[in-house]
Amino acid sequence: SLTIGIVGLPNVGKSTLFNALTKNDVLAANYPFATIEPNVGVVGVPDARLAKLASIFKSERILPATVDFVDIAGIVRGASEGEGLGNKFLANIRESDAICQVIRAFKDENVVHVDGKVSPKDDIETINTELILADLQTIEKVLPRLQKESRIKKDVAPKVKAVEEAKEILEKGDTLFSQGILQGSDRAELLHDLHLLTTKPFLYVFNVDEDELTDDTFKAEQRALVAPAEAIFLNAKLEQDLAELDEEDALELLESVGAEEPGLATLARVGFDTLGLQTYLTAGPKESRAWTIKKGATAPEAAGVIHTDFQKGFIKAEVISFADLVETGSVAEARAKGKARMEGKDYVMQDGDVVEFRFNV
Ligand code: GDP
Repeated sequence: SLTIGIVGLPNVGKSTLFNALTKNDVLAANYPFATIEPNVGVVGVPDARLAKLASIFKSERILPATVDFVDIAGIVRGASEGEGLGNKFLANIRESDAICQVIRAFKDENVVHVDGKVSPKDDIETINTELILADLQTIEKVLPRLQKESRIKKDVAPKVKAVEEAKEILEKGDTLFSQGILQGSDRAELLHDLHLLTTKPFLYVFNVDEDELTDDTFKAEQRALVAPAEAIFLNAKLEQDLAELDEEDALELLESVGAEEPGLATLARVGFDTLGLQTYLTAGPKESRAWTIKKGATAPEAAGVIHTDFQKGFIKAEVISFADLVETGSVAEARAKGKARMEGKDYVMQDGDVVEFRFNV
C-alpha cells in the first residue's frame, strides 16, 4: 500500500505524534494477528457514511480505509551530505509515496530548538534545502551521462530536457512538487527512474500550542508558507492524550479546545487525498467497508482491490450512490425506484458509490 513518510527536525514532536498514530492503529484493532512494523502507524480514514451504512445493513463491524504513516528519523542540516542518519534517511524517504513534514510552532522554553528559535519558515526552508540538495546530487550524477548519450541517441533528448528543467527549478531553491513539474506532461515518466525526492507530494503538520488551534490569522499565515501543499494544525501532546481516552472523554477534551475532530483524523483524510486516493463502499450484514482505489479507477480495477478474481471475471457493478441509498433506506427500495445502476467495465468510480460486483468465477 502507499505510505506517507513523516519527517521533521529534532524536537518538533514527531515521536509524540507518532505515538498517537500507533495508539490509533486500526490494524491492531481489526486484525489482531497482523504483523505490525515498529515504525509504521496505520490510521483509519474517518468516514461518517460507514456508520450510516452499518445501521441500514445491520453490519457487525465497520472497516474504514487506512493510511500508512512511516516514521523517518534523522533529518538534520547536512543530511544530504550523509550527516547524521543521512543516507538511511534519504533511502527511507525515497520509498515513501508522500512526505509529511512536522513543523514546530509550539513555544516551550523547556524544549530546546535545534536552531535556537521557533521559526516555522526557517525550519521548512532547512528541510526543503536538504531535499533539494539531495535531488541536485542525483541529477548531477546522471545528467552528464544523459547529455552524452543524447548526442548518439536522439530519443534521449526529451529526457535530458526534463532533467535540465528540473535542475533549473531546484537551483532556484524550489521543490519540484511546488512547481507542479509533473502535472500535465510526460515529465513524470521521463523523471521516474531518478526517484527525485521533491517530486513527491508534500503535506505539512504544524505542531501548535492549543490556543493556536483556533487562531485563523496564524493558520492563514502558515498555509501561505506551504501552498500548494496542504497544512494541518494539531497539538501532538493533545493528540497523544486523545488517543488514550475513550470516545466520550475524547469528545469532551476536543470541545474544550474548540476542535471539531482529532488532528489525526484530519491528517488521515488529507494524507489520503494527497496520495491521490479515494474510496468506494460495500455494505452487508458482516461489514460496512471503505475500499481504497486510485482516483479515476474503473469498476474492474475497483473490484480487483477486493480480489484479483473479481477483476478477472468482472461482469458488472451494481452501483447505488450513498445519498440515494440513505434516502430510499434499502437496496430493494433503491432498485424499485430506479436508483440502482448497472455499470460496465469502463465505468469510473465516484466518491460515495455503494457497490456490489457481479463476476464469473
Ligand atoms: P521529535 O524529536 O521530533 O521526535 O520530538 P518529540 O516528540 O520527542 O518531542 C520533543 C519534546 O517536545 C518532548 O519533550 C515532547 O514532550 C515535547 N512536545 C511534543 N509536542 C509538544 C507540544 O505540542 N507542545 C509542547 N509544549 N511540547 C511538546
